[in-house]
Amino acid sequence: MARVYREGDIGNEISQKRIAVLGFGSQGHAHALNLRDSGCEVTVGLYRGSASWPKAEEAGLRVAEIPEAVRWAEVVMMLLPDERQPPVFREQVAPNLSEGDLMLFAHGFNVHFNQVQVPPEVDLGLVAPKGPGHVLRSLYEEGKGMPALFAVGNDATGQARDLVLSYARGIGCARAGVLETTFAEETETDLFGEQAVLCGGLSALLKAGFETLVEAGYQPELAYYECVNELKLIVDLIYEGGLARMRYSVSNTAEYGDYTAGPRVIDEGVRERMREILADIQSGRFAKEWVLENQAGGSSFLAMRRREASHMVEKVGAELRALAAEGAESTAGSPAGGES
Ligand code: NDP
Ligand code: MG
Ligand code: MG
Repeated sequence: MARVYREGDIGNEISQKRIAVLGFGSQGHAHALNLRDSGCEVTVGLYRGSASWPKAEEAGLRVAEIPEAVRWAEVVMMLLPDERQPPVFREQVAPNLSEGDLMLFAHGFNVHFNQVQVPPEVDLGLVAPKGPGHVLRSLYEEGKGMPALFAVGNDATGQARDLVLSYARGIGCARAGVLETTFAEETETDLFGEQAVLCGGLSALLKAGFETLVEAGYQPELAYYECVNELKLIVDLIYEGGLARMRYSVSNTAEYGDYTAGPRVIDEGVRERMREILADIQSGRFAKEWVLENQAGGSSFLAMRRREASHMVEKVGAELRALAAEGAESTAGSPAGGES
């Protein structure tokens, strides 16, 4: 089994460093606040006029423009959206890094696909929490942590590895466990997971199920409950105790259908296309497409976003969720509660 680093395995050298957290979005706010609460000295780096600037100040953090924050800092964590990072890195970050600084990323895309060039006299590392930023923050506040991956891309000082691990501890991830990887492995597995399974595979699967029922003449509301809404309950069981816990909890009929129908849906053809998707990621073909899409202003991306937002499953879901929310409000107000 891979070595999992916990708090006891890691030093606290990060608390001796000046840290700039660039960006104050999903990951940025969680990193900055967790580090501060772990006793570290943090400045948030943003641009003048950023909507995030007052939010970071209200949270009690010091904020500066990116060039100034980078000049001041010894450790810099890049938490702008991936597609915005290359020009900001080139123009505002790289010229202000000093020999011996540590440059960190939370996802390997821009380093692995050569969209940024970190100078050789600067240490380079990766700390990638495995979950959304607001959960990274709330787990930390509960005294828990979110698992993370770490990697060292360049060790100019001879101390990069310890400091990268110490950063992961500072944001609370060593409470859960930190695993070593490489920029290539983190980037390729992250892209594959989100495309084939978590985001792409899942959205396509549940839309296909929903559409199959609706086309066959069933009510869209029922199709939504069966193919989308119940997913949360199923995923919670898997998260708690694996597939076995889910299969223990559903009926024997559902369990039998799982074994017989599952492999008919996800057949060898699907696996073959998953391998093609992985090959496109490994070869850099996906990265090239996404970089060019952004250089062209992201018009196909925005068109796809608009088209997907108007899908029937979204409309039906919004109506049903609004009804459920109304129901919850009215029972919360009554002295007898929800029981009847
Ligand atoms: P967000 O989109 O949530 O963060 C955007 C932040 O960057 C905002 O504060 C925004 O300011 C600021 N920003 C945008 N453009 C600029 C600019 N040109 N100059 C300065 N600041 C700018 O990003 P995420 O937190 O989702 O992602 C950050 C990194 O973390 C990425 O590398 C991502 O892959 C990685 N990651 C993200 C995860 C997640 O949970 N989302 C999970 C694990 C890794 P403004 O308010 O002005 O727009
Ligand atoms: Mg990702
Ligand atoms: Mg059912």
